[in-house]
Amino acid sequence: MTSLPRPSQDIPDIAIYQRRESGVRSYSRSMPRQFGRAQGVWIHDSQNGRYLDFLSGCSTLNYGHNHPVLKQALLDYIESDGIAHALDLHTDAKAEFLETFESLILKPRDLDYRAMFTGPTGTNAVEAAIKLARKVTGRELVVAFTNGFHGMTLGALACTGNAAKRGGAGVPLGHVAHEAYDGYYGPDVDTAALLEQRLSDPSSGLDAPAAILVETVQGEGGLNAASPDWLRAIAAIAKRHGALLIVDDIQAGCGRTGGFFSFENMGFKPDIVTMAKSLSGMGLPFALTLFRPELDIWSPGEHNGTFRGNNHAFVTATAALRHFWSDDRFEKEVRAKGDLLGRRLDRIATRHSLSTRGRGMMRGIHVGSGEIAASVTSACFALGLIVETSGPHDEIVKVLAPLVIDEATLGAGLDMIERCVGEALNATCGIAAE
Ligand SMILES: *Cc1c(COP(=O)(O)O)cnc(C)c1O
Repeated sequence: MTSLPRPSQDIPDIAIYQRRESGVRSYSRSMPRQFGRAQGVWIHDSQNGRYLDFLSGCSTLNYGHNHPVLKQALLDYIESDGIAHALDLHTDAKAEFLETFESLILKPRDLDYRAMFTGPTGTNAVEAAIKLARKVTGRELVVAFTNGFHGMTLGALACTGNAAKRGGAGVPLGHVAHEAYDGYYGPDVDTAALLEQRLSDPSSGLDAPAAILVETVQGEGGLNAASPDWLRAIAAIAKRHGALLIVDDIQAGCGRTGGFFSFENMGFKPDIVTMAKSLSGMGLPFALTLFRPELDIWSPGEHNGTFRGNNHAFVTATAALRHFWSDDRFEKEVRAKGDLLGRRLDRIATRHSLSTRGRGMMRGIHVGSGEIAASVTSACFALGLIVETSGPHDEIVKVLAPLVIDEATLGAGLDMIERCVGEALNATCGIAAE
């Protein structure tokens, strides 16, 4: 028997948040509950409600909440007075992480990268990546793509497409050209060829770029998945024009699309890769910028930071690598579940003449408008399913279930989405939980 969610009906007292927390808060507005505990795919609120989590911290909790193996590793480490903070000093925890990352991730994939521990969030990893690309090439421009999302600090924000997010910058965002992502003008326009044409034309007005920055699947921008052909073409363009290829794998990496990296088996190797979100495996802040050793021209402390390398995250990340990535079992399971997810979303789409997006366990369904998507997600929440939207108009219902979910529970959550999409499209979505 699959367990089902048990949403609580009462909205708790949220006066403290309204009184003291900045208006910048966002997810909490559409889920006005107060959460306390979480385990696996379930998150519990303070009123004994239980919710199925198809958001997973935007792919930060790929291995679920409080995975027992990761939790035990961290408890043991703290119990033994393991180092919590050490700037960038050598620590046992860091050595174990680097050795495990080398032996389980890099070597089997024939990847030779240096690891730079940046500040602990994704945007820090992107800042370091574009800063290094500019330093290495002596060029200023970064080519990013329509609907790309790369973070909120100025350099990464300049690479982000979303106008509302960009509007918060308060200063001009420059030195980035936003070119068309795969499929932007529909299936018949080869946007890689357009980019090649612009870069090859000395009079196009597009400067030679330091880097081309790309997500293989656009997490926030609408779950658009670039084809392997397109990505290979972009990699070749970068090489031809002396630009470094940066793959932002912050959301699509750590197994979300099947492999540890989202670009595996596609026939190209990025010069630089950014990782964060699920890297620690347990929702701890932890980010990494990887690059070819020849690019490592940083001088000591040139890109500094107090929280470079989070030792607790080293411990949980190492435990996650050992538990999930020492053979191909997990990867195969994720691929099978990703296929199931794809089939189920395609079925909903076919029934209602909608379309689906994405790859692996990173997929969504375009429901027509942001308004319909919002009514789908709020109806799902009323049934006890946490699911969010994505895309330029928030018109894609995005499914980011924990990768460790069993097929029955995945199916139960998708049943709820199917029902709420049907009801929202019939504009009769006044659902109460059964
Ligand atoms: C979330 C995300 C970022 C930013 O990470 P933060 O930890 O929020 O700073 C950058 N790139 C992509 C693709 C992301 O999904």
